[in-house]
Amino acid sequence: MGNARNIAFWVVLFLLILALFNLFSGGQSTLASNARNYSDFVTAVEAGNVSQVTLDGEEVRYTGTDGRQYVTIKPEDAQITDLLIAEGIPVQARSQEQSTFTTFILSLLPFLLLIGVWIYFMNRMQGGGRGGAMGFGKSRAKLLTEKHGRVTFDDVAGIDEAKDELEEIVEFLRNPQKFSRLGGKIPKGALLVGPPGTGKTLLARAIAGEAGVPFFTISGSDFVEMFVGVGASRVRDMFEQAKKNAPCIVFIDEIDAVGRSRGVGYGGGNDEREQTLNQLLVEMDGFEANEGIIIVAATNRPDVLDPALLRPGRFDRQVQVPNPDIKGREKILGVHARKVPLGPDVDLRIIARGTPGFSGADLANLVNEAALMAARVGRRFVTMVDFENAKDKVMMGSERRSMVMTEDEKKLTAYHEAGHAVVGLNVPQHDPIHKATIIPRGRALGLVLSLPERDQLSVSLTKYKSKIAMAMGGRVAEELIFGPENVTSGAASDIQQVSKIARAMVTQFGFEPDLGYVDYANEQQSYLGGYSGGTNHSAATQKMIDDKVKEIIDEGYHTAKRILTERADDLERLAQGLLEYETLTGNEITRVIAGEPLNRGDDDPDPTPPSGGASVTAIPKTGGRRKPGLEPEPSA
Ligand code: ADP
Ligand code: MG
Ligand code: ZN
Repeated sequence: MGNARNIAFWVVLFLLILALFNLFSGGQSTLASNARNYSDFVTAVEAGNVSQVTLDGEEVRYTGTDGRQYVTIKPEDAQITDLLIAEGIPVQARSQEQSTFTTFILSLLPFLLLIGVWIYFMNRMQGGGRGGAMGFGKSRAKLLTEKHGRVTFDDVAGIDEAKDELEEIVEFLRNPQKFSRLGGKIPKGALLVGPPGTGKTLLARAIAGEAGVPFFTISGSDFVEMFVGVGASRVRDMFEQAKKNAPCIVFIDEIDAVGRSRGVGYGGGNDEREQTLNQLLVEMDGFEANEGIIIVAATNRPDVLDPALLRPGRFDRQVQVPNPDIKGREKILGVHARKVPLGPDVDLRIIARGTPGFSGADLANLVNEAALMAARVGRRFVTMVDFENAKDKVMMGSERRSMVMTEDEKKLTAYHEAGHAVVGLNVPQHDPIHKATIIPRGRALGLVLSLPERDQLSVSLTKYKSKIAMAMGGRVAEELIFGPENVTSGAASDIQQVSKIARAMVTQFGFEPDLGYVDYANEQQSYLGGYSGGTNHSAATQKMIDDKVKEIIDEGYHTAKRILTERADDLERLAQGLLEYETLTGNEITRVIAGEPLNRGDDDPDPTPPSGGASVTAIPKTGGRRKPGLEPEPSA
């Protein structure tokens, strides 16, 4: 690895030393104390005081009859050889070759240095990869062998449909006659489409482990280089390799890096990327379906892909890899929990129920965090409490117990969060409240987390309105308790959130009949998918949209105000409860509001009992009171 780079380094070092050496040795002979004038030398010769002479270019070294060495420089036109021979003095001449060679090298030195530096950077740009400076246009596809990634289909869980489709493709490669006998065409390519972290790369590696055919993997960004033409020749090279190794699978990860729509982007597109994409399209057309090469690609941005890539005959299969549902999550947790010792109380189904919206990668992370939490307190296995804490950490950020809040801030946060919770408990169709806390977490000073009971596929108008009312509850509580002049900037993220929801309701979901059922948000499409910039609707429409958004938010504000005025006692009790206990679970919130005592054991400082049958989890976006400009996030 980095061979060429090393060689370049040594060459440069060697040349530098040579140059230094030359400088010194050259200097020494002239600076030395035994230097003589040329005329002294001639006088000495004529006086017969010289016993031996060595000629080395312009340098004349001679030994006097006193036995000492002298040196002098002869003028260019001086002819001394005849004189010396006439005087009968032995003359030695040094070959000039070596010194001209050295001068030659020295004159080349700057160029060699430049070349060395160039090679060095080339190598860096290629990530020090194989092939060195000569391997520019070489594809960087790596051949994955079984030794490399021992991933099998068993390691992939919860995305069975995608798995089945890919297993079928592997079957094509193993047994092509079975399918072509009936005249069917074997697909050329499959495109894995899905959000980040759902296991697309993992699935591809599993195919590599299972297919029993060579599996080349390359990332889309490997094609994209600074140098024109490199990407295209890499594509060519990759397909050459693939043809030599057929039947085989070529996997292009993150293909959107190279497959973006042509003619779109900053400054009207990128020629180099377009060339690369064109070459890819040409190559995909250039081999027959039955040649035994299957291209599998993955992306989480199918919307930006060039339509030509998706045309039948190229990636004729699109395999959806969605976020897992509850059963899928349980299986994925099972896969990752194989590696950690679980306590007897751990029920993966409950964790799965509490994590809607989590991707496979999130779940892997959750298991890892839980194991770390258990290790931190010195447990020998991972318990449900660890999972619960890990979930809070993943969803809400780490607790920041060290952050100092003044008593006033704490009180304000308590009423703010209590306001969210009380409104959330009293609006229709709202997700159950999972937890409320005034311990700072991540960027939030406090948090109320409400989690859907089931995975959500669509959301009703009423539910959106309830969400907005709940989000406004924090600010409204501050106003009611501390007076309108004492409200804080802590509601900034609530306001941001309601604006986003309300705008989507108006411009995308068609919830405002006055504006009709028009998608105002994504209309900036132009001819053939290019981007034209600007919006298509008139200023009047824009004003109407803005008015409606404000109207919806105002309505939520008034709902929150009505609820919190009617339920002032609830608000008071919950805020006091939060001030006392700092964190309350959904059940505890109900008890505190009902005025029941909480009998908590004092041995557990952060009571997060496994949420038995209670509903739990998802997007942590509900009602955090944030203090802007508090960052940076804890790096724990
Ligand atoms: P993607 O390529 O879709 O963005 P990855 O395949 O890189 O996601 O997934 C990242 C990690 O998340 C994997 O290495 C694996 O540990 C975990 N993971 C994701 N999906 C799954 C799954 N379906 N089954 C098991 N583990 C998964
Ligand atoms: Mg990936
Ligand atoms: Zn808030």
